[in-house]
Amino acid sequence: QKEEWAKLKDESTITADGKHFTLAANIGTPKDLQGVLANGAEAIGLYRTEFLYMDSSELPTEDAQFEAYREVLEGMNGKQVVVRTMDIGGDKHLPYLPLPEEENPFLGYRAIRISLDRQEIFRTQLRALIRASYYGKLGIMFPMIATVNEFKKAKAIFQEEFDQLKASGTPVSDDIEVGMMVEIPASAVLADKFAKVADFFSIGTNDLIQYTMAADRGNDRVSYLYQPYNPAILRLVKNVIDSAHKEGKWVGMCGEAAGDPIMDCILLGMGLDEYSMSATSVLKIRSLMKRIDTSKVVELAEKAITESVTNEDNIQLVKKYIDLD
Ligand code: PEP
Ligand code: MG
Repeated sequence: QKEEWAKLKDESTITADGKHFTLAANIGTPKDLQGVLANGAEAIGLYRTEFLYMDSSELPTEDAQFEAYREVLEGMNGKQVVVRTMDIGGDKHLPYLPLPEEENPFLGYRAIRISLDRQEIFRTQLRALIRASYYGKLGIMFPMIATVNEFKKAKAIFQEEFDQLKASGTPVSDDIEVGMMVEIPASAVLADKFAKVADFFSIGTNDLIQYTMAADRGNDRVSYLYQPYNPAILRLVKNVIDSAHKEGKWVGMCGEAAGDPIMDCILLGMGLDEYSMSATSVLKIRSLMKRIDTSKVVELAEKAITESVTNEDNIQLVKKYIDLD
């Protein structure tokens, strides 16, 4: 089986009825690039930049960040790289950036909330990214966006830094896409409004499920509530996809669920454009998608949100439609 998959490395991902979808990889550092290329990913759908901050004893400088981003953009040779601005807080702490003790860190001061508050940190990262944009095809996305105003503020800060760098004669790309993670239920519900201002969405199921089910993603006692196929989650996902498509925007998924064969059968039926997963899952999922006729899974996806009641119902439903072997 592994040998069969290896043959698909240089192919793009085309379903049995000839539709193309993008299979992308998630990375944490430039070192992960090798695995991305070896497994034939068509893009990087999530570059988690926290590691740059966590592997350092002080805030990483603009130049240090620029070098890391450029390495990844150049290494991908024109394929898109979506970089997420820092997602610190929650369970991720920095020794040199003391954060207040909080009762509920996952609901607290984290990610874009820190970036909008400590703008010097955010602007440094954005400048490094904008400078690196010249070396490839860059997308930038903001984590943990809850309101349209947060997105607009973050985008305006990006625009200020972009205009300044451009005016100063720094080489930059003119087609950087600026999008957002959809990982808070409020933004999934209000996706039609967000779709008017963001260039793209990437659905973060790890957090979207945690917040929708009110179940800590790291707590084993409640891990049974991690239910990616629960119709409640799927209806949110469907709303995000449809809202984006109405505005002509693309939608990806970069949470764990994007690399899950059962989930992907449903997502294909909903028309999700990009699937970003651990590099080692890419070939397996490409092989699965090549076997699927999308007209068949459209019906499956419809049933998954109208007829099914539970997560388990949808596991059974997918198995009825597709031989997952
Ligand atoms: C997610 O929440 O699904 C996600 C991709 O981000 P992280 O796992 O880094 O929170
Ligand atoms: Mg997240």
